[in-house]
Amino acid sequence: MQIINPATEEIISELQVTSKDELRSVLDSLREGQKAWAQKSIEERLECIIRFGEFIQLNVNELAEILTLETGKPLQQSLNEIKGAQNRVEHLRQNAEKWLAPETLVDSGSTHEKIMYEPLGVIANISAWNFPYNVGYNVFLYALVAGNSVLYKPSEFATLTGKQFEKYLWQAGIPENVFQCVVGDGKLGQQILEADLNGYFFTGSHGTGLHIAKTVAHKLVPVQLELGGKDPLYIMDDVPDVKQAAINAAEGAFYNNGQSCCAVERIYVSEKIHDEFVDAFVTEVKSYKIGDPTSLETFVGPLTRKQQLKVLENQVTDALNKGAILLSGGKEIKGKGYYFEPTVITNCKHEMAVMNEESFGPIIGIQKVSSDSEALRLMSDTEYGLTAAVFSSDEQRALGLLNQLNVGTAYWNCCDRVSPNVPWSGRNNSGLGSTLSTQGIRAFVQPKSYHLRP
Ligand code: NAD
Repeated sequence: MQIINPATEEIISELQVTSKDELRSVLDSLREGQKAWAQKSIEERLECIIRFGEFIQLNVNELAEILTLETGKPLQQSLNEIKGAQNRVEHLRQNAEKWLAPETLVDSGSTHEKIMYEPLGVIANISAWNFPYNVGYNVFLYALVAGNSVLYKPSEFATLTGKQFEKYLWQAGIPENVFQCVVGDGKLGQQILEADLNGYFFTGSHGTGLHIAKTVAHKLVPVQLELGGKDPLYIMDDVPDVKQAAINAAEGAFYNNGQSCCAVERIYVSEKIHDEFVDAFVTEVKSYKIGDPTSLETFVGPLTRKQQLKVLENQVTDALNKGAILLSGGKEIKGKGYYFEPTVITNCKHEMAVMNEESFGPIIGIQKVSSDSEALRLMSDTEYGLTAAVFSSDEQRALGLLNQLNVGTAYWNCCDRVSPNVPWSGRNNSGLGSTLSTQGIRAFVQPKSYHLRP
């Protein structure tokens, strides 16, 4: 499998794809390893995770460089992503024992009732490329602490980062028969679906997620899906500082080149401040430094996948054909690398693909609204349900609207944000189940109830 640098289009590595036989023997060893791993105390398992965090800290620059080389993510954003691993390790250090401890619910003289949390066994973690470290460690660190072994299949567009994490997990004391990173694309993914696993934890597109859920349904094992979104942001007329709102909204839309599951994908603005907002927004977007992702100054690098250039171009053409106005960007940047100009489109309507299909790139549609109820109607008009944001100086007004939206995450005066303290989950076509927080660790255990009569 060839690994191509999206900034230069050069082949940077060639890897041997995991064969069917190798997959079988990896799974046999993970099944064997899991038994001993589950016998260890939570404290012992946590020690390995904490050591992993220390290795990550020591090697943060190397890890960031690999991520940038492989996906085109601007170096500063790669560094930010790795630092998130520390944050998860610390959160687990503080909470994992508490979350996994047996719970006694009734302790009367004649009856004891309690719950023990047992690991699922060997789980598959099939992952995406857009935040490959992040979407990986949000799953496998929690699964490992809970006593599972993990078959990790990173995206074919982020395999080097996956291999790097495998190296540091092993160095930190996680046995090789407890964590294995396999190499391949959807074909290998398909073989994993056909294999005997105790849970499937997937991050990626809605289409693949649905296919996975259908394919493994007959096994009756847990399936968790973290899928795409078309996340709306509404700028109310009472924002205290329109320019600042525009700067924050633009960052939410263009960070990681718009390739974030929770990126702002469509913006609604009150007609009272629309023109001022759009001016400030376009000024901000035009100030972004585009180019070499290895430079710490770059904010917009290349797209990770070449085929997305066409998707974005089609969304621009579709919007313009339906009456939108192009205020910035709109096309591929010719030359080496998969670069697309940061694109701002106004006068948008909901029948445009840019307002109803996941863009996953540096493009944003802005639509004027005349009331909160119109904004609510448009924000709700989607098959997705990952996040939604409202900027306003009035918390009650913002929450009044956010409370009515069918989304896993609601943001007031912020957006494009993930925290280990609260669950990360999507609704409808954005997925099933949660990572992070208590729910994120409970996803990797099964409760066993005890009724005891002393
Ligand atoms: P994708 O669906 O193309 O691929 C995801 C993974 O599935 C890859 O590892 C791929 O090899 C594998 N795969 C492909 N076909 C398969 C098959 N038949 N069986 C098993 N596995 C198969 O998605 P992507 O392009 O890697 O990721 C982008 C998508 O992920 C976007 O839609 C984005 O919104 C979403 N995403 C969601 C979250 C979240 O937390 N909700 C986080 C990151 C990304």
